Amino acid sequence: MSASWTISAARDALRKGEVSATDLTMSCLAAIDAGDGLNAFVHKTPELALTQARAADARLKGGDAPSLCGIPLGIKDLFCIKDVPTQAASNILRGFKPQYDSTVTAKLFHAGAVCLGKLNMDEFAMGSSNESSCYGPAVNPWKVDARNLTPGGSSGGSAAAVAADLCLGATGTDTGGSIRQPAAFTGITGIKPTYGRVSRYGIIAYASSLDQAGPMTKSVRDAAIMLGAMAGHDPKDSTSADIPVPDFEAALTGDIRGKKIGIPREYRMDGLSSEIAALWDKGADMLRAAGAEVVDISLPHTKYALPTYYIIAPAEASSNLARYDGVRYGHRAALSAGDGITEMYEKTRAEGFGPEVQRRIMVGTYVLSAGFYDAYYNRARRVRALIKRDFELAFAAGVDCILAPATPTPAFGLGEQGTSDPVEMYLNDVFTITLNLAGLPGICVPMGLNKQGLPLGLQLIGHAWGEVDLLNHAYVLEKSAGFVAKPEKWW
Ligand code: GLN
Repeated sequence: MSASWTISAARDALRKGEVSATDLTMSCLAAIDAGDGLNAFVHKTPELALTQARAADARLKGGDAPSLCGIPLGIKDLFCIKDVPTQAASNILRGFKPQYDSTVTAKLFHAGAVCLGKLNMDEFAMGSSNESSCYGPAVNPWKVDARNLTPGGSSGGSAAAVAADLCLGATGTDTGGSIRQPAAFTGITGIKPTYGRVSRYGIIAYASSLDQAGPMTKSVRDAAIMLGAMAGHDPKDSTSADIPVPDFEAALTGDIRGKKIGIPREYRMDGLSSEIAALWDKGADMLRAAGAEVVDISLPHTKYALPTYYIIAPAEASSNLARYDGVRYGHRAALSAGDGITEMYEKTRAEGFGPEVQRRIMVGTYVLSAGFYDAYYNRARRVRALIKRDFELAFAAGVDCILAPATPTPAFGLGEQGTSDPVEMYLNDVFTITLNLAGLPGICVPMGLNKQGLPLGLQLIGHAWGEVDLLNHAYVLEKSAGFVAKPEKWW
């Protein structure tokens, strides 16, 4: 069925007239309806999809087909789309319909993409399991026995939808691993670009110095195609870089002879599953066999990354989320007689935000408070600079790419982690957050199945603005691993 196609296969079939954008869209809409048990789509937009598909068909007929013409995609619920409910999976934004498009979705639509609907996620992108969503968690299409597993988070709906062939690709955002970790848990590809490569305009902010959007797809080629459409300078985002967008797809030569791959010794840490450790070695062998040199490197400040991130991200979140007050849009609590503005704020925010978001707002407010600012926030900023310098030194010493695990374990069961201690959940981010702190690009590629039949991925980390090289290395890994498994359909 065509919903299971890759973007590149669909692009070719559309251009040859073997399928129409409308038929392709209808097959995705049918797959989405049949996939309700995955809880991946939280808002479907069939009318918008069919309108866009018909317009794409007209362009295809006219021979004017931009890169994503007629390609049906899912959009994470963090991206504003004009007149389409956008809630960041939070009750506080119930009823909110943006009056404008995010730059990313505007660019995707400009490139001819078709919007199938909004995808589930952790509330305000805070989480690693999709369980903080006001809609309840998305479910991983991969199962072990009868256990329901997390698709990861925060872009869990995006990952589940792509892995289950409900759409051809999806947008994700990655503040501390939210594209790469769900990609690893569901056997798909996900790239977090260099900070500043993709505009943040119209993406609901979590931690502004870390947030980046990127594609989640069924192949490295698809990631290259989609990233090409999403990237580029945007005067509406002051941190968007005025750097030309290369032809990412043309970069996929498969030639990495003479490249130097770094293996960071600090990533071989307690808690890393032995299967992933073995896969990491295998991945290094594959890159070596393709003509690259593999060297050990040291990123000595790695152990400080988790605490640093879990100070900086909540600090920025507490500031970003201050705007949700029930005054202008979204949820407002019912008030009792005598309630004033303070009660209105308090009741609205207590009702609207879930427990994890409230915890982050409190932690963030605390580390920014007058007496603790230097001890926590300022110190975390200084450590962040050291983490960034670790990477800079490794790249300055001639390393082209770094190969690392993406996650310490395969997907875990829903309800299994972080229920009594939130730090247990935070530990899932240990391999992904370092490069958000450093602003670097990273990609997760599916590499195989573990003994239980669950997908495992590896992560490649590139130098700033080095997506071309990064994607090419990922392409080599993808070809060597030859991962083609799909989850058995139970939904
Ligand atoms: N799991 C991380 C967090 O909870 C990352 C989230 C993200 O990348 N959006 O903050």
